[in-house]
Parts: sequence; structure tokens; C-alpha cells
Amino acid sequence: MRITRYAAAVAAAGIVLTGCSSEAGDAVEEAAEAPELAEEVDFEAGTTMAELAEAGSMTVGTKFDQPGFGLRNPSGVPEGFDVEIAKIVAAELGIAPEDITWTETVSANRESFIMNDEVDMVVATYTINDDRKEQIDFAGPYYEAGQDIMVAEGNPLGIEGPEDLAGKNVCSVEGSTPAEEIRTNYPEAQLTLFDVYSKCADALANGQVDAVTTDNVILTGIVAGSPDQFDLVGNPFTQEPYGIGIPKGDDEFRAFINDTLVEAYESGAWAEAWNETAGAISGTDAPEPPDVDRY
Ligand code: GLU
Repeated sequence: MRITRYAAAVAAAGIVLTGCSSEAGDAVEEAAEAPELAEEVDFEAGTTMAELAEAGSMTVGTKFDQPGFGLRNPSGVPEGFDVEIAKIVAAELGIAPEDITWTETVSANRESFIMNDEVDMVVATYTINDDRKEQIDFAGPYYEAGQDIMVAEGNPLGIEGPEDLAGKNVCSVEGSTPAEEIRTNYPEAQLTLFDVYSKCADALANGQVDAVTTDNVILTGIVAGSPDQFDLVGNPFTQEPYGIGIPKGDDEFRAFINDTLVEAYESGAWAEAWNETAGAISGTDAPEPPDVDRY
């Protein structure tokens, strides 16, 4: 059986929405309660916050094929932890979830979408690093993942870590830190690159590749939807702190998002967002949130 994006969407929705028999539209609301909207927001004129609050709407770049973080459901709306984090930031600007326009950003186009003002921010399993910081800025981190490996169910090739990828065909995504890690530190692995991870999952299911590598939480979401097909090796070997990408130099917006994240850590909204999305899929409680880095 091939994993299609739609099948993955249905599988993940089934996990998140167990026991919910309402139609997809209602289900979205029930999947995660909308964060409380800030009332009477008042921002200094000329700031990004003032502009967005005045517009009453914003555009957010996220993933559309990653169960637990950003997965477009059958009614066309994305669901997941990244989506909830974005809603928390929007709510603090007085913007309701239905006034967010969701744009699919894949790994390779996140910086350019931010730089070309195609989105107001990107929340998309987006690792903070210095290369990317040359082009954009990051609020956060709001989560820390680690690169891991997904193999065919039963791990027939006995792949236990990145060293075992030598001479094997491993799939990842263009413009991602996991692809860069393999290219730089494990050059004996043969790298196959697609634009999104669901295509890597298809390739593994078809036997076109021997393994898929990216962040553990992304792979966990894929395995949860197809436990008969895939296994997670479960041996993370990098640190992937997730940040919210915004235009370079917008220090006020960055500080505002960092303040909002800290508030969400303290109020429990962050943990609730985890529990309703990625936590529900992986069966894990919310971890301790990472400290934001106000560089
Ligand atoms: N967190 C890694 C990155 O930002 C991998 C996940 C992704 O490609 O979105 O590149």
C-alpha cells in the first residue's frame, strides 16, 4: 500500500479525533480549542504587530504533509503543533484562527517566502541555525527535535544509526538540515531528495529507498499513520531547535513572539497544544519547553 498525502491525513485525523463523529469542519474545532483572543490589543504604530492587528488577518507558512505538526486535513485546513503555535501568536494579535491564511511552505522555500513577504511568519518544523539567520530571524525555540531515521517495518537492513547508512539509499528533503547533515557527515550514504517528506515515505514503502531521515517528531507522525509499514530507529543524532521564522531585522516582532511563547509556557497553553496534536499521535506528554533565545 502506498502512503498518499490524503491517506496520511485521514490516518492522522483518525488518531487525533478518536471518538469524534462530527463532520470534518466541526472536527477541526474539536481537535484543539482555539486560544483565547487578546482583546483591545494596542501596539506601537508602525510595528508589524500594529499592522497585523489592524488588518485583523495574517498569512502563516507551515507544512501540509506532516502529521502532528502541520497536516492539511480533508477540509483543507492544516492541523498540528506548529499550527497551534501559530494560532497562539495570532490570538495575541487579536487574530482569530479563521482569519489566518495558511500557505504551504516546504523546506527549501521557507527563507524566500519570508524574504518576499509571501507570509508573515513561518512555523514549520524550522530549525534555527546561523546559515538561515543570515537571511531571516527566528523567535523561539519553542521545541527541540533531533534527527532520526525511519526504516521499513521490522528494520530488515538492521539500520541503527547514521553510520549504518553507508552504501544505503536514504531519502530526505531538499533545503533541510537533515539532508545537509548526511551530505556533510555521512557522505557514503546515497541521498535521494524530494521536496516533501511524504514523498520519501512513498519511496520507502515502494522499496525505492532503504531509509528516510529527518527530525524524530516528523518521522513519528508518519510511523503512527502506517505502523505496519514503517519503524522509527529512535536514536536521535542532532539537535533541531524549532523557531518561528520572520523577516530579518524585525526585532520588535521577534521580541513580541518570544514574549508570547513564554506566556504560553507559563499558562499551560503550550503544553495543551502539544497534548492535542503531536503528543496525541506519539502518546507522549508535553516535555519541558525550551528557553527562548533572545539573541
Ligand atoms: N528541522 C529540519 C529543517 O528545518 C528538518 C525538518 C524540515 O525539513 O522541515 O530543515
